[in-house]
Amino acid sequence: MYRLSGDRDEAMRMMKRSRRIMCWLPGTDCGLCGTPSCQALAEDIVRHRGDISQCVFIRESNLEKELMDRERSAGIMRRIWGDNNFEKNCNKKGAENESN
Ligand code: SF4
Repeated sequence: MYRLSGDRDEAMRMMKRSRRIMCWLPGTDCGLCGTPSCQALAEDIVRHRGDISQCVFIRESNLEKELMDRERSAGIMRRIWGDNNFEKNCNKKGAENESN
């Protein structure tokens, strides 16, 4: 709890907010939002270091409901993972031309 804030009362409020945010996150801990777990993203959000739209599931849901467009969704993914992960690269680990 104290990792959220050094102040006990503030930490409790932040923990409650984080738990409310967890109601929306899927809990699959896939890491595609750039954090190691859904809980970590929820804690980042309450510390104003993250946004719920970093979650791929939330983004897909928002795309489906037409609350977000593909360009914005792709922009979030590029910001998290970098542009080079969206291009073909046969030199990366496990790919055709991986150098030994
Ligand atoms: S992308 Fe969504 S489901 Fe995956 S770890 Fe992040 S919050 Fe959880």
